[in-house]
Amino acid sequence: MEYEAVIGLEVHVHMDTNTKMFCGCKIEYDAPPNTNTCPVCLALPGSLPVVNKKAIEYGIRTSLALNCTINLTSIFARKNYFYPDLPKGYQISQYEKPLAEHGFVLLENKKVHIRRLHLEEDAGKNNHFDKESLVDLNRAGTPLMEIVTEPDLSSPEEAKEFLEKLRAIVRYAGVSKADMEKGQLRCDVNVSLRPKGYDKLGTRVEVKNVNSFKFVQKAIEYEIERQTNLLNDGKTIDQETRGFDPQSGKTFIMRTKEEAEDYRYFPDPDLLPLMVSEDDVKSIKTSMPELPDERIEKFINTYGLSKYEASVLTNLKEFGDFFQETIKYTNEYKSIANWLLNDVLGFLNENQIKDISITPKQLADLINLVKSNTISTKIAKEVIKDMILTQKDPSVIIEEKGLKQISNEDEIKAVVISALEKFPNERERLKNGEEKLIGFLVGEVMKLTKGKANPKLVNQLIRECL
Ligand code: ADP
Ligand code: MG
Ligand code: ZN
Repeated sequence: MEYEAVIGLEVHVHMDTNTKMFCGCKIEYDAPPNTNTCPVCLALPGSLPVVNKKAIEYGIRTSLALNCTINLTSIFARKNYFYPDLPKGYQISQYEKPLAEHGFVLLENKKVHIRRLHLEEDAGKNNHFDKESLVDLNRAGTPLMEIVTEPDLSSPEEAKEFLEKLRAIVRYAGVSKADMEKGQLRCDVNVSLRPKGYDKLGTRVEVKNVNSFKFVQKAIEYEIERQTNLLNDGKTIDQETRGFDPQSGKTFIMRTKEEAEDYRYFPDPDLLPLMVSEDDVKSIKTSMPELPDERIEKFINTYGLSKYEASVLTNLKEFGDFFQETIKYTNEYKSIANWLLNDVLGFLNENQIKDISITPKQLADLINLVKSNTISTKIAKEVIKDMILTQKDPSVIIEEKGLKQISNEDEIKAVVISALEKFPNERERLKNGEEKLIGFLVGEVMKLTKGKANPKLVNQLIRECL
C-alpha cells in the first residue's frame, strides 16, 4: 500500500515587545537569571495581570498578515499544569475564543490554511546542570502567539517552505525577530499517514518543540518512515506525543493518549474578555508594513526577477532589503539578483559569515565596472570575495591588485600572436573549421594575461590574426 503524509504545524512565536505579556518586566535574552521579574511573573499571591497593549497590536498585525478574521472579543483562559518553570501553576492562553481564525499562507504551489492564532505567555526555563537544576523566570510571561495550521502540508520540504514563509511574514510585519536559535520561533509537528488518495485522516503523532528548520524536516522524515513501517507490518499508529532527539535524528515517545494531559481550561477570572474595535483593526491594517507577498510581486513585475529569485530574496529579508537599496545605484536588476543569490550568499554560507558586509553602493559599483568592461565577470567574482572580507570598494581592490581589464587592441594583439605561434597546429585546425579550438586559444590568451584581457576582443583578434 502506498501512503501519503499529512502534516499540521503549531508554531509558537515570541513577540518583539519591550515588556512582558501581563507585567512591565523587560524582555532580554541575555540578562542574568531572574533579574527581569516582578510579583506578577513570579506569581506572588495577590498580584494581578495587566494585558500588554503592544502585544495585542502585534497579534492583530500578524493575524491580518496571515489573512485571518479577527475576533473582536476573545477570552484569556487558564491552562492548568504543574512544572517548576511555571510558578502560577497555570499558563494564561486563549482557548475557546482565540484572537483570530481562518487565515491562509500562500506557498509556491499550495495554499496552507491557518486554523487559529491565539495569544499566550511563555513559561520560564529550567536549566539542568550536573547535580542540580535551576529555574530562571526571566522568560516567564514573554508574549507569544501560537499559530496553528490545518493539516494541509504533505512533505518535509513543504513544512520547511511554510516555516520560512511564516518567519518572513512575522519579520516583515515587524512583530518578531523569529530567531529559532534564541527560541523565538518553536514548532510542534503533527504527522499522520493515510492511503494515497483517501480523504479520511489517519491517527496523528505530535512531535513537540522542534527547534530548527532542519530538525523539523528530519523529525517529519523519521515519522513518515516509522509510521510506514508500522502500517506495513499490519500494526496501527497510536496517538501519542513524541520528542525529537537531534543527535540520533529519531523521535521518542513522551506520552500516550491515555496519559494525555487534561489542562482543565477555564476563563481567567483575573482578566476581562479582550475587546478590540473595528476601528482598532482598521488602523492597524492601514499602518501595515510591506509584506512578503507584496514584495515578491514587485520583484517579479517591476524588476523582472524570476519567481524563484523573488521568493528567495524576499524570504531572506536582509537580502531583499539589500536588493532594494542597490537598485538606487544601478538598474541591472537581474545582475543584482544573480550576484546576491549566487556569489554573495554562496560566499557567506561557505565561510559562515552572518552579515552582508558590503554596501549596496559597492555591489552596484562592481556591477557597473563589469558592464563598462573595466573588469571581466571572472575577475569580478574574485573581487567580490575580497570586498566581503575587507569591505573595500571594488575600484580600490582592482587598483591595488592591478586587475583592470586590458581592452587595448595592440596590447592584446601582441599576446594573441604569441599564443598562435606557440600552437601552430591548433591554429591550422581552427583555420580549417575546427571551431571548438577557439575556446582553447582564448583560454591560452587569458592565461597569459592573467584573466585580464577583454574576452570579446580576444575572440575577435584571434580570428583576425589566423
Ligand atoms: P491539539 O491542540 O490537541 O494539539 P488540534 O486538533 O488542535 O490538537 O490539532 C493540532 C494540529 O494538528 C493542527 O496543526 C492540525 O492541523 C494538526 N492535525 C490534526 N489532525 C491531524 C492529522 N490527522 N494528521 C496530521 N496533522 C493533524
Ligand atoms: Mg497540539
Ligand atoms: Zn514581571
